[in-house]
Amino acid sequence: MSIIQVALPIPLNRLFNYIYPKDNKPIIGGRVIVPFGTRKMIGIIVSLYETHDCHLQKKKLKEIEKILDKESIFTKSLWNILKWAANYYHCPLGEVLMNSIPILLRQGKSTCYKPKSIWQITEKGRSIGIESLKNAPKQQKALILLRQISLVSDKINKYNITNSVMQALNNKGLCKLIENELPVNNNWYNHITIIGAKPKLNKDQVIAVNSIKKEDNHYTAWLLAGITSSGKTEVYLQIVENILTRSQQALILVPEIGLTIQIINIFRKRFNVPIDLVHSSLNNQERLNVWLRARRGESAIIIGTRSALFTPLARPGIIIIDEEHDNSYKQQDGWRYQARDLAVYRAYKENIPIVMGSATPALETLYNVFKGKYRQLNLMNKTGNTNLLLQQVIDLKGLSLIGGLSPILIQKIRSHICAKNQVLLFLNRRGFSPILLCHECSWIAECNNCEHHYTLHQYKRQLICHYCNNKKLIPSECPECNSKNLIPVGIGTEQIEYKLNKLFPDIKILRIDHDTTRNQNTFREYIDNINCGGPCILIGTQMITKGYHFPDVTLVSLLNVDGALFSSDFRATERFAQLYVQVSGRAGRAKKQGEVLLQTYYPNHPLLKILLNKGYFAFAEKTLLERKSVLLPPWTNHVLFRAEDTDCNKVVKLLQKLRNYLENSILNDKFIWFMGPLPSLQPKKNKRWRWHLLIQHPSRKSLQELINKFLPIIDKIPEARKVKLILDVDPIES
Ligand code: ADP
Ligand code: ZN
Ligand code: ZN
Repeated sequence: MSIIQVALPIPLNRLFNYIYPKDNKPIIGGRVIVPFGTRKMIGIIVSLYETHDCHLQKKKLKEIEKILDKESIFTKSLWNILKWAANYYHCPLGEVLMNSIPILLRQGKSTCYKPKSIWQITEKGRSIGIESLKNAPKQQKALILLRQISLVSDKINKYNITNSVMQALNNKGLCKLIENELPVNNNWYNHITIIGAKPKLNKDQVIAVNSIKKEDNHYTAWLLAGITSSGKTEVYLQIVENILTRSQQALILVPEIGLTIQIINIFRKRFNVPIDLVHSSLNNQERLNVWLRARRGESAIIIGTRSALFTPLARPGIIIIDEEHDNSYKQQDGWRYQARDLAVYRAYKENIPIVMGSATPALETLYNVFKGKYRQLNLMNKTGNTNLLLQQVIDLKGLSLIGGLSPILIQKIRSHICAKNQVLLFLNRRGFSPILLCHECSWIAECNNCEHHYTLHQYKRQLICHYCNNKKLIPSECPECNSKNLIPVGIGTEQIEYKLNKLFPDIKILRIDHDTTRNQNTFREYIDNINCGGPCILIGTQMITKGYHFPDVTLVSLLNVDGALFSSDFRATERFAQLYVQVSGRAGRAKKQGEVLLQTYYPNHPLLKILLNKGYFAFAEKTLLERKSVLLPPWTNHVLFRAEDTDCNKVVKLLQKLRNYLENSILNDKFIWFMGPLPSLQPKKNKRWRWHLLIQHPSRKSLQELINKFLPIIDKIPEARKVKLILDVDPIES
């Protein structure tokens, strides 16, 4: 009997057996439709075998329904990487495989391009007076729509438009039908030209480019440690050039969509090769097309965010991870992979170089350099502007503040604005105030779903829970004592914007946070608005810290970051240091002198001292040593069991049980260490309690084996079936 083993995208850590008709040849790595319970599901064939096992026959295996692919949809290396990753992250193979491919493929669409016919407006259609169609209202309506969007010809009924209406418009020359064939450009490498002049590299850049080029035909993991504005991008460009001339492809990962657009422009200005973007704003068809082009070798450069890592490449040449320290490389739900780590593994498997660039490398990465796994190259000089940043710490103790701004800072803002420059203020807290308090009875407005205080959003006239996004109107009086004296406590970006408008009524003030720029286009508009120059004050959250280039910003201030100095999360200081360097790096990027002001109540904190006086790398070294002395990652490894349920008791009980089981089954391992059950950083969210159990071990392999042994046991614990249990390998937050 011939059996195929299929991986299905369900949260069960096993494969499923089916029989297949002899005349239909299944392919490993290809998709199949199979019956599953009462449903039909799409899965991936993982293995085939012949058996005479009567036991299996008795089980009456079902037959597969349909074979969808004639060849594997995974490249050989991706297939191996994904299988490895499923094992490493203890995630069901079916979920890993399916998650790595475009949605349309998950749904069973074919792996062929589908050329589309599209109705598009003509010049005449755009300029003609809409009144002239007043006797043909249907055509008029269609034309108005066409002025906004192009219409796929077989989808026009979605808009209540008929074919004859379109034909009529076509006859009048107001629109035309175009075949949107995807360009097949399989020989871009035959005519690569370098557009524009390359700058003359400085000494550090020469060393970096030459070192990487010299060995760019096999696996090496490079850390490109370069301070902000040291010209890392130019190094990427020059090493990618070498890869392209060998007709190989480059895969470039960046932390955010906004940055994909910034970097694609830089690469387009340099190379006349096909470049594709992969990010969450693509629609499903576009995503599939990009995937196909890369797989067929038709695109030369693929730029994308985290999940772009799984883009198949016909001729892989190099992987580049920009801002490698960024936390967005870690997927935080479902399959919780770390794209940076997987990228290194992919480069290793494909035997190609990988370059990880950052001004503030992750401690993990520096640790890997220390262990000799990665090689470090340094760019320690700014290009163009040789003026080092002026840094100043403002001791807030006893100062009278206006909207969280100290008098010294206000004075500084004024002088930078007078010099026609721009100012950037960083505060990682959106809304007007994080707390609304009753002045009479100390009642605090709290979200019931999360037992977490509501944030006051003055513009929207709403209270919003930042955990679950629950919204309600601002109450006019206290529900406990009916007092009308409700006061906002603490400061958010909205409040600073308000105060700044009072302080600087004639100056453009732009707030950049999730509330003002939720959508990608508005965000672009804001960035363009800033970069067209002229004095202005920007207030922003985390969003603005990531690699954006603001040439006219000369003053940067971090308004309130003290929380990080005293956090219970051991990673908070690392994050703070990265944030400080990244935010201050927004100042003085062009020719102008940059200045940074840090407001704090703890100017003598040892961390601040080392960071400001000796820089990030000294800080990192010290912190790494500290972590070594207390046996924290990266010197040891963490796995976190996260449990979630509406019943807090169940959650704690389950985790306690897991801990007991584990402790009893591994009595002889003296290196293992447990912490928990403990409440998570957000202990309640959307009515669900969230706790975790941390397991630490100095050996990754031992920890891995332990969990592998343990997982089948968990399934037998009755509580584990009722409570949502998530395994987070190498967690970055608790
Ligand atoms: P980073 O990514 O390290 O922050 P960028 O690559 O954005 O820095 O470089 C900052 C600026 O310096 C860019 O405008 C870039 O074009 C320019 N630049 C890079 N290398 C050189 C060079 N060797 N000579 C002159 N300008 C350079
Ligand atoms: Zn009250
Ligand atoms: Zn809530």
